[in-house]
Amino acid sequence: MHYLDHNATSPLRPESLSAVTHALGVGGNPSSVHAKGRAARAVMEEAREKIARLAGGGPDQLVFTSGATEANNLALFGAVEGSLAEGQTRITRIFVSAIEHASVLATADRLAERFPWLRVQRLAVTQEGVVDLEGLRVALREGKGRALVAVMAANNETGVIQPLSQVSRLAREANGLLLVDAVPAAGKIGLDFSLCDYLVVSAHKIGGPQGVGALMVRETAPLQPQAVGGGQQKGLRAGCENLSGIAGFGAAAHALSDGQGERARIAHLRDHFEMALKQAIPETVIFGVTQDRLCSTSCFAVPGLAAETALIGLDLDGVAMSSGSTCSSGKVAVSHVLAAMGVADSLAAGGLRASFGWSSTMEDVAAAVASLVKLRERAPQRSKDPQGSLGKSEAA
Ligand code: PMP
Repeated sequence: MHYLDHNATSPLRPESLSAVTHALGVGGNPSSVHAKGRAARAVMEEAREKIARLAGGGPDQLVFTSGATEANNLALFGAVEGSLAEGQTRITRIFVSAIEHASVLATADRLAERFPWLRVQRLAVTQEGVVDLEGLRVALREGKGRALVAVMAANNETGVIQPLSQVSRLAREANGLLLVDAVPAAGKIGLDFSLCDYLVVSAHKIGGPQGVGALMVRETAPLQPQAVGGGQQKGLRAGCENLSGIAGFGAAAHALSDGQGERARIAHLRDHFEMALKQAIPETVIFGVTQDRLCSTSCFAVPGLAAETALIGLDLDGVAMSSGSTCSSGKVAVSHVLAAMGVADSLAAGGLRASFGWSSTMEDVAAAVASLVKLRERAPQRSKDPQGSLGKSEAA
């Protein structure tokens, strides 16, 4: 199998697997005071330090969750509900970039349903997939009460890195709060928690196990707990912690602490993939190519090659990728990210994502390119006018 879907989930790193196995053997509840409990807590605290370092913050600011979806839910629900407490300024407006993950977009929409006085607005992105800073500046100027801004560190479909320092400055100037979903960016670019109030990471995107993530939260930021019960994690998220998952997460974060070599290797694979693909199929369009992108991600379309057909063909050739579009009840929906970038539906319907990671090799790249070339040859109608189908997107 040539696995090029690391942004969906990255295979478990060997060091993560051994940390998981070791932690399962430790037993003990991290909240227990006896020796076994203390041993479990030591495992957890060691992992906490490593993950907090990856997130560019301190261990005291970290809350373990069941993944990034829960962490995004906790940040958004927790911020708004927490802002209703005495002494806090009520959050009245939420500005989310149009390219956020569904766990941010759907939560923001749910909040708007629950609190009719809350205004939720999507922020436009440029044709290159970068959040429109001027739009954010204008949005922050209007309205009373506190604003909460959600802009991801880099997009999971295109890999386009977002201008977080500027977003942070605009949010701060307006006394707003900033949530950063750093799931695809973690380990690929440096993260600086001092820029934000909430930051979200997930283990399984960096070679840790699935079902564990973390929310970094600033001490002064409102956060109403959503899971209440035994008071674990300073009452911010009740429930016995997923010790083995956390240990595996910590090991994956640690593997990345000296990740420069790995990043350079991955960047080389991604660049080689794009170069070879463009050479073989010149009409290939690579989205966001003019921007700073994560080394791991390539989002592209071959005009005339439908994404769903391509995925099946690639799979038959032993290549795993994903499409920017989602298929539910037989209806293919175009990626909301490509749509927000103004990519024409006809082109976006061919949107594919190859994402590279620690286990990727040059053989994977060669197999993927060969398979795409074959599929392109077999595509029913080859587009005579690729430019005509480019819409407003960037051709490369
Ligand atoms: N945010 C982003 C940007 C993601 O790519 C994902 C995973 N697809 C999530 C959040 C959700 O992560 P998890 O699977 O840990 O809930």
